[in-house]
Amino acid sequence: MNFVPAVKAPENSGGLASWWFVFKRDELLVLTNNGKAEIPFNKDLSDINIKPLKKQYLGTMGESPSFAVEVSLETEAPRGMAFRNLRSLLGEFSDELFALSGRAFQVISWDLNHQYCGRCGTPTVAKQEERAKVCPNCGLVSYPRISPAIIVAVINRNKLLLAKSSRFKSDMYSVLAGFVEAGETFEDSIRREIREEANIEVRNIRYFGSQPWPFPDSLMVGFTAEYDSGDLRPDGVEIVDLQWFSPSELPHIPGRWSIARRLIDWFVENYNEREKV
Ligand SMILES: [Zn+2]
Repeated sequence: MNFVPAVKAPENSGGLASWWFVFKRDELLVLTNNGKAEIPFNKDLSDINIKPLKKQYLGTMGESPSFAVEVSLETEAPRGMAFRNLRSLLGEFSDELFALSGRAFQVISWDLNHQYCGRCGTPTVAKQEERAKVCPNCGLVSYPRISPAIIVAVINRNKLLLAKSSRFKSDMYSVLAGFVEAGETFEDSIRREIREEANIEVRNIRYFGSQPWPFPDSLMVGFTAEYDSGDLRPDGVEIVDLQWFSPSELPHIPGRWSIARRLIDWFVENYNEREKV
């Protein structure tokens, strides 16, 4: 369904059936009636006995208004519904619906975390014409924070570099990733992360694609690169093991809904044939 973002709800949106993205902390309210999680679609939240603390307009999804809603921690899910951890809905929702759920979550978190001006402590007010909060005392404007992170498939001949992170509880391997630091280009960030975590240099950095990652406010920006020089060595802190893998001998890798997996699938598609030659 096509989503069109907007900040201000149209005057006549009151009586229309709307999509409600209701969050209790990081849990999203979903219908569970038919075994498949769905977003509530009603005229008003009172129809399902939900009392909102705050409500923010997101835009229209397939012509219908959609709202991000914050509820109190005491709120119980109505019959036939459940509060589900947002992350657990990855792969269960379509990419579009998950992205919109993530957007709703980021808007609510930002609203919650910017109630006061970070510079002078005065309570902020919502700006009418854009998604921003402004301080009525000193004029500081705050926008929803987005933290870019790079994620890179490094190729050496027909092998892909995969790492086991100290954060992974399972035996999973994935491509290298890290946050962009202040003052860095994406390319700087990629070279630094790979140097720090794997002790190698890369070349031919190419843009691949991106994915919003609302845990809590990242934007994963994917790239491919080629190995240039250096001896592979994990940093031992964030990365506990690093190996080059050919397409036919991949270890346990991330699920299909992640850009990490899209990068790995891209590698398999493009390097499988070369392996056979
Ligand atoms: Zn201020």
